[in-house]
Amino acid sequence: MIGRRIPRYTKLIMALGVALATAALVILYREYRMVTERMAISPAAEHEALVRAGFGWAAGGSLLALSLCAVVVWFIARRQTARIEELRVEAEKLRDADFGEPLPETGDDALGQLAAVFNDMRDRLRATTVSRDYVDRILSGMNETIIVTTADGSIRRINRATTELLGYSEDELLGRFIDHIVDTGKSATLIDDSTSGVPREAFFKSKFGESIPVSYTCSIVEDEGQESTDRIYAAQNITERRRAEQRIRYLARIDALTKVPNRMQFQHLLQRAIARARRSNTPLCLLYIDIDHYKDINDTFGHLAGDATLETVAERLTAAAPENSVIGRLAGDEFAVVVPDFGPNGKDRSATSALARSLLDRLADPFYVQGHEVFMTASMGIAFYPKDAPNVIDLIRNADAALYSAKKAGGNVFKYYKPAMNEAAVERLMTKSRLKRAFERDELLVHYQPKYNIETGEVFGAEALVRWELPDRGLILPSDFIPIAEETNLIIEIGEWVLDKVCEDFRLWQRSVSSPGRVSVNLSLKQLRQRNFTKRIGAILRSHEVSPTSLELEITETTLMEDPERTVKLLDQLYALGLHLAIDDFGTGYSSLSALQQFPISTLKIDKSFVREVAANPDDATLVGTIVQMGRNLNMDVVAEGVEDERQLNVLQRLECTYVQGLLFGDPMSAENYLELLMAQADGTDSYRALFA
Ligand code: C2E
Ligand code: MG
Ligand code: MG
Repeated sequence: MIGRRIPRYTKLIMALGVALATAALVILYREYRMVTERMAISPAAEHEALVRAGFGWAAGGSLLALSLCAVVVWFIARRQTARIEELRVEAEKLRDADFGEPLPETGDDALGQLAAVFNDMRDRLRATTVSRDYVDRILSGMNETIIVTTADGSIRRINRATTELLGYSEDELLGRFIDHIVDTGKSATLIDDSTSGVPREAFFKSKFGESIPVSYTCSIVEDEGQESTDRIYAAQNITERRRAEQRIRYLARIDALTKVPNRMQFQHLLQRAIARARRSNTPLCLLYIDIDHYKDINDTFGHLAGDATLETVAERLTAAAPENSVIGRLAGDEFAVVVPDFGPNGKDRSATSALARSLLDRLADPFYVQGHEVFMTASMGIAFYPKDAPNVIDLIRNADAALYSAKKAGGNVFKYYKPAMNEAAVERLMTKSRLKRAFERDELLVHYQPKYNIETGEVFGAEALVRWELPDRGLILPSDFIPIAEETNLIIEIGEWVLDKVCEDFRLWQRSVSSPGRVSVNLSLKQLRQRNFTKRIGAILRSHEVSPTSLELEITETTLMEDPERTVKLLDQLYALGLHLAIDDFGTGYSSLSALQQFPISTLKIDKSFVREVAANPDDATLVGTIVQMGRNLNMDVVAEGVEDERQLNVLQRLECTYVQGLLFGDPMSAENYLELLMAQADGTDSYRALFA
């Protein structure tokens, strides 16, 4: 617009200049002619002619000067037009995101100032574009899938990882509803709750119909104080983690040798069978089987033959037991079978006897190992739900008591459980009241099992383990009395007493060594369920002036998952107090590691059942390795418990476990002995350091 108006105006000036100059020339020429003509006719008129000529020259001269001015004005206008044109071209370039070179800021006039403003604008625009490009590059460089949607879920933006994960191009997703990429058959729609920050899990669906498990978080875009409505979903593909978890669960539940459920899984399945039987009001029977003289087979034909025998037993039981039964290997050469709908009375009973006999006969068939014909027989104890016991533990114990009696009868027979076979039940009742008395009489003790840093061999802390000392029977281990204490509220009192004792010991150690390490204390479910639990713990710590950061609470995986929502809240409170939290006996429960992620846990303790075979069984080594890696990925310390020999220690070192504890370094010890160990370490005279070299 400006560019066009100025040329018209300059053309006008130029035309005016030309017209004036022409007029001046015409006037001059006419005057000259007139003077020469007059001088020829009358010299008298010469003077008048000269005066007129003077006027003429003056008029012509001023006209010439005027035209010169016009030319100058024209030149100036041309120059300005060129500068404005230059500005226009640069502005157009800028519009097309081409930053070009800065304009020369010549002159202090309005155009010079305009050029300066323009250059400034160009620089600022370049800066924002550069930072926007930078954000774009960050987004596209991220391995996490980033999806930005509007409040109603319409996709506004995605990054490269999203297109790679889902196989869609950007254009195919922009504007689509977020549910388009969620596998709604397998998971609910994404939850846009930004406050918790807890990762959630869902399944995405790729363009090719593949279902992809992801862990995601969602945040809401804050717009200068006020809430904008856009959502940012950041998701990670967790297929590998899922696979690893499935493998862990498989290895943790299935006996590697015989491929039937191990003890833990069998108990779990038995629990479920009992629940079903209770609902349908039907009985079930548990057959507990033990191979007769298994040790002889091992000793005579070697361990390979021993293993082959166990595999044969599992195969034969699987083939001969009714279809809906569950078979498990409970220990070395002990197997068990749960058969639903087999009861203790009338026809049921004879069916059970026939089944028991046929299984024992099938097991007694000879088989061949490395060219040797092996004969084996087995014994069997039978107990019924609900007649003989109402729960898993008692049912197994009673079937075991019947098995014991079958063994005593010489083997290759089965026996039904009778209450007289099991005095243990009576003893159990007695133990309960004795335990209560023992607690009141202060007969409980706390021992400490050191935890060692696997790289340096330094003592990192200890686990407090309660013991009961009976004058006539010596030390009783917790496995024999904690379950009984847990049946009553005694466990709460015992738990608090242990914590109190640990704090007392801790203060004593602090008088002699600067840092007694981190001491962990086991918690039971009943304690966690106490209403004012956090307050009570806080009070104990304060009364001894022990810092919460010196202590760690161990909670088993099963306890954590009892009522996760409530437990998360409680653990958050404990964590806020400064306490460390550990998952105990990891691998024995049924939770996924992702489910455990919601708890503020900093330590993972691998159950000793996995450590036991870690050096001998590659499957267990894989399992432990996977747990260690998963724990490390979640920034947790990983402790292996139950380390009994150097081979296990070496394997754990190779698998990069963080800490170890176990009988390899001696029995759990008294508070005095633990202090001695800490002092020896400070002097450099501790004896276990060499094991870690
Ligand atoms: P836990 O918390 O898993 O403790 C580890 C157990 O493994 C301890 O058994 C320990 O003596 C044992 N252990 C340590 N090293 C080895 C090893 O190399 N080989 C083998 N085979 N075992 C090893 P303990 O003392 O019999 O305690 C058994 C369980 O009783 C504990 O398992 C814990 O769940 C519970 N417990 C112990 N003290 C307390 C307590 O104060 N309160 C509560 N609620 N439970 C406790
Ligand atoms: Mg423990
Ligand atoms: Mg444990």
